[in-house]
Amino acid sequence: MSKNVKLKVPFAFDDEKRLYNPHIAEKGRHYFCPACKDTVILRKGEIKAPHFAHKASETCNQETIIHRIAKQLILQVISDWKAGQIDPPILKRTCEICRKPKDQPLPDKVECAMLEYRMSDGFVVDVALMVENEPAAAIEIKVSHAVDENKAELLSVPFIELEGQKVIEDPHAFEPIHDQFLSFTCGTCKQAKTRFQVKVNQIAKQTGVELPNRYYRYGFCECWRCKREIIVFAWPKASEWDYSAPKVKPMPKTIQYRYSKTVGSNYWANTCPHCKSIQGDWHLFSEPDGPFFGIRCKENSQDAYKRDMQNIIGYAIYNGVLAES
Ligand SMILES: [Zn+2]
Ligand SMILES: [Zn+2]
Ligand SMILES: [Zn+2]
Repeated sequence: MSKNVKLKVPFAFDDEKRLYNPHIAEKGRHYFCPACKDTVILRKGEIKAPHFAHKASETCNQETIIHRIAKQLILQVISDWKAGQIDPPILKRTCEICRKPKDQPLPDKVECAMLEYRMSDGFVVDVALMVENEPAAAIEIKVSHAVDENKAELLSVPFIELEGQKVIEDPHAFEPIHDQFLSFTCGTCKQAKTRFQVKVNQIAKQTGVELPNRYYRYGFCECWRCKREIIVFAWPKASEWDYSAPKVKPMPKTIQYRYSKTVGSNYWANTCPHCKSIQGDWHLFSEPDGPFFGIRCKENSQDAYKRDMQNIIGYAIYNGVLAES
């Protein structure tokens, strides 16, 4: 590290290891660099903005300073919150259904944060969020290097990665650059999801159709002919032109191998349990009010199933077909 590089110290420790920024720090008190523990000098002059001056150092460096401060700020915010002095820190999440950015307060069950915590898998995390004395989640601080991929994959708890500089700017809002926390559904979507389930259960019961929990994605729509509400299914296909039979048994009874005039041959189609007419793929997947508009079921995995179901529900919400009754 060059001696000429001026180290910036946005926050310094006092004697009790609490962080102060130069605006609230007081002249005549001792402050220390959070990284190397060297004394820093508070400068509050007429011209320059208040700042801490750090002596040129062979050992200290900017990255470590930012990293150390960010961790300490998170610890401080969490302990202030737990002491009832401030509101819970806010996690900036993305709702897995509507894909909108939403604020999620850090769950109450988090008891405290611990820095540089060694997990049972051997990894040391920057911040561990403790629930019942066990690390339940982790926060990694990025200053210049991202969390290495190996660690990201092997870490035994959900984690988020935060930009050190961002934490320093606002330690109360956690805006992850990587979010591996458990998936998050916003309040509005949670309610809409419930209405979707109630609705499909109702239609399924009326029509004697069973709702699967894998492979066959489902939604509801009006039959184009008899106008009654019915359950329709989507299943993984290699392409739009894949007319092979669905691969998982038992097959919902309304999926039938039928002749379609539009297609000009037999194919596996959704049918109406009331009037028996074919519900064409075009009507279901390509019309903006079709229940599977924009949904492309390709992958046959449980993850893909979950994602597609979320998209179907998300589209139903967007389309206004789940309006509160
Ligand atoms: Zn230092
Ligand atoms: Zn949402
Ligand atoms: Zn019908």
